[in-house]
Amino acid sequence: MPSYEFFCPKCNKEISLTLTISERERGEYKCPSCGAKDLQPLLGAFFSKTSRKS
Ligand SMILES: [Zn+2]
Repeated sequence: MPSYEFFCPKCNKEISLTLTISERERGEYKCPSCGAKDLQPLLGAFFSKTSRKS
């Protein structure tokens, strides 16, 4: 199963969840820490990539 990155506004942190495609499409996911369901998917379209300078 693919894993997806989300941002939890309640925890104010990024989390990664392993979901099936159908689970993701139905929104059947929640924050493992606080149980919030209003997670924001961290897709490239939503988030600008963090550039790190080494
Ligand atoms: Zn949370």
